[in-house]
Amino acid sequence: MNEKVKPLVAKSIRGDEITIDESRRILHAKGAELTAYMAGAHGIKEHYFADRVDLCSIINAKSGHCPENCSFCAQSLHHQAEVPIYPLRSVDEIVLGAMQAQRNGSHCYGIVTSGTRIKPGDEFSTLLSALRRINRETTIAPSVSLGILDAESAKALFKAGCKTYHHNLETARSYFPQICTTHDYQEDIETIICAKKAGLKTCCGGIFGLGESIEQRIELGMILRELDVDSVPLNFLSPVAGTPLQDAKMLSPMDCLRIICLYRYLLPDKHITVCGGREKNLGEFQSAIFMAGASGMMIGNYLTTSGRNHAVDEQMLINAEVTINV
Ligand code: SF4
Repeated sequence: MNEKVKPLVAKSIRGDEITIDESRRILHAKGAELTAYMAGAHGIKEHYFADRVDLCSIINAKSGHCPENCSFCAQSLHHQAEVPIYPLRSVDEIVLGAMQAQRNGSHCYGIVTSGTRIKPGDEFSTLLSALRRINRETTIAPSVSLGILDAESAKALFKAGCKTYHHNLETARSYFPQICTTHDYQEDIETIICAKKAGLKTCCGGIFGLGESIEQRIELGMILRELDVDSVPLNFLSPVAGTPLQDAKMLSPMDCLRIICLYRYLLPDKHITVCGGREKNLGEFQSAIFMAGASGMMIGNYLTTSGRNHAVDEQMLINAEVTINV
């Protein structure tokens, strides 16, 4: 391993915190320096996870008409993007999705609903029934992403067999007001704390390419480190027509790899999963995500955009010589 990177790798594995200066160097690295950092990140990943990777899938269980105004999101009522709008899927449809995800090799199945929160009542009961059935009828780990959460709902989800609560912070606290003004960042933080208190694992990350600065990419990583979340999904913006970010420039593949690499150094023992925007932002560099320190990848469709053909992803995983966790 490169002599310059070795002490940083050892520091990360020891659990000592990577500093802002060290993080900056990773996000500015190019050429051989970047590949050296990536080799280090790969080493950290292998220290904690060997050659194993987790695959996850989601179902967009309730789509569109969201009163929040996240500027990247096609499902917001405030924007003019064309997305399917439908109410909560039935228990059968959600359970069938879990079975399909399990057949495709996913370790975790995320049930995602649009909206600020799910209120107690019929919709919440449907979700609890779906969770119970997924636990009875499959071996996949069910997770939910239902927006802002309260303590009582968190307890009910845990009791119904939900393993993980997914709640992205989207971006750094200092940039959040440019991205969303309909709720406060602190509500997102409290949601994560509330899920943890109920015994749920937490899966929380963000989306990059929203116009945030290098410093803000570091800031988000440090907030997630502080929150001690269990897994960190990294999304890269694919601009959607009709949203305020429709003309945003996509990140380069190297930018995406720098971000994955940084997050591995910052969060050495957490699952780092590459999710939305993988195909469009990384292009032919997709398989390099594992060499940059990722320990997981989302497969299948995303919330409002289609994912890659399953057979193509399967072949990529074989070529990358990784072992899929089942
Ligand atoms: S990201 Fe979630 S909360 Fe924000 S507008 Fe989209 S569906 Fe609503």
